[in-house]
Amino acid sequence: MLSSSSQSPLAGRSVQTVRYELITLGDELLLGLTANTHLTFIGSALGRQGARLTRNVTITDDAEAIATQFRESWARSDVVITTGGLGPTCDDRTREVIAGVLGQELVFEESIREAIEARFKRLGRTMTENNLKQAYRFSRGEVLPNANGTAPGLWVEQDGRVLVMLPGPPNELNPMLIEQVLPRLARLGLLAEREAYVQIRTAGVGESALEIRLQPILQPHGSALSIAFCAHAGQVDVRLSSPTGERSLAQLEAVAAECAQSLGEDFMCYGHDSLAKVCADLLRAGEHTLAVAETATGGSLANAFTDICGASKFFAGGCVCYSNESKMQLLDVPECLLAQHGAVSAENAVAMAAGVAERLGADFGLAITGFAGPCGGTKENPVGTIYIALYTPCGVWSRKLCQPGPRPTVKQRAVNGALDWLRRELVRSSRRTADATAPGTADCQRIPGHQQG
Ligand code: ATP
Ligand code: MG
Repeated sequence: MLSSSSQSPLAGRSVQTVRYELITLGDELLLGLTANTHLTFIGSALGRQGARLTRNVTITDDAEAIATQFRESWARSDVVITTGGLGPTCDDRTREVIAGVLGQELVFEESIREAIEARFKRLGRTMTENNLKQAYRFSRGEVLPNANGTAPGLWVEQDGRVLVMLPGPPNELNPMLIEQVLPRLARLGLLAEREAYVQIRTAGVGESALEIRLQPILQPHGSALSIAFCAHAGQVDVRLSSPTGERSLAQLEAVAAECAQSLGEDFMCYGHDSLAKVCADLLRAGEHTLAVAETATGGSLANAFTDICGASKFFAGGCVCYSNESKMQLLDVPECLLAQHGAVSAENAVAMAAGVAERLGADFGLAITGFAGPCGGTKENPVGTIYIALYTPCGVWSRKLCQPGPRPTVKQRAVNGALDWLRRELVRSSRRTADATAPGTADCQRIPGHQQG
């Protein structure tokens, strides 16, 4: 609920009932040239803090379209967020059009001009006259500074409503939303101060099977608990919340912990971390290093790790070995092995994982080889066949995945399958280490070899 000290005109209403609407502007969005990532970014950021976007409308940069849409959204919403069209060029009209609809004057703000000029100076460029268009703010409004671009955001409170205008480029908008907009909305009581739900991430279990497994824990809570499942690429997330406020955050966390406990290794993490991030944390905690080798996934596996800040602490490197020659030259895969078993085989996957770990001096080696399609494949190994292999200090194993589908889907599933296998092995390895250091527990013995399945 909104705090009683809130200055919001909406005081007394719960955060869930605040009507948020997002207007995304840009011809490039409607032409399908740019994916509307603002919807996912803003929608999920608000959702995490208990609020819901009620609508997202995407419109052209045309002045009439902006005015018509804004009038409509403003009339039915409590908070309107617009994105795009704040830049210096003639197709950037959002500021002027909306000022007109709200009957606000645009006033020149010297501090914005100075910031734009300073930015141009830092980049060694000369500021052109049209940039000054961005130095205007609403007469009854505030400026949201933009650390990564020239167009600042604008904040207006009027008619018992809030208007937030943000620039189009995601690298500018995203930090402005997180650092400035969300805290301001929370201060007004329009968002919860912190996460409003608890999320558990799982890997390797289907959505329907997961629901059945969690039913004994979740069902007894009845309508006090709201449960939402979200499946994506080999992972399923479960969000637990209490819209009626019957369960506190601590109680939600206790239910989540019970779920995690019952899921064992299928539980991946709490919150929003990626599979690669979970593996990275486990590698760092165990002071292990990793090297990867890939064919069909073309560097996506390595990319998943280099997306993580500080990856050099655990990530030795990776090889994309598409041709047989590159597998022989870079990973020491024997020519006779490739001739006998082919590049898409358990034997080659094992040789790649061992080869890359040994070449790069890493504790763990993870390899992927397969047919991503749509062409290629054999009777025995049709399109969608992927072999992954994992080299560990205890031995090296391979595993076959058969999941036909479009090329990007096969690649994504291969990467996630490999990451999840690594994650499970690292979890087991950390348990073995803990057990080995516990008094009276024997060291585990593992026999090197490889298995399929
Ligand atoms: P600029 O100063 O860059 O002109 P702007 O506020 O005028 O910023 P636009 O011109 O509308 O914004 O868009 C700038 C860039 O941001 C474009 O590359 C555009 O594709 C991207 N962009 C705009 N809206 C979205 C969106 N909804 N999702 C992802 N990218 C977007
Ligand atoms: Mg623009």
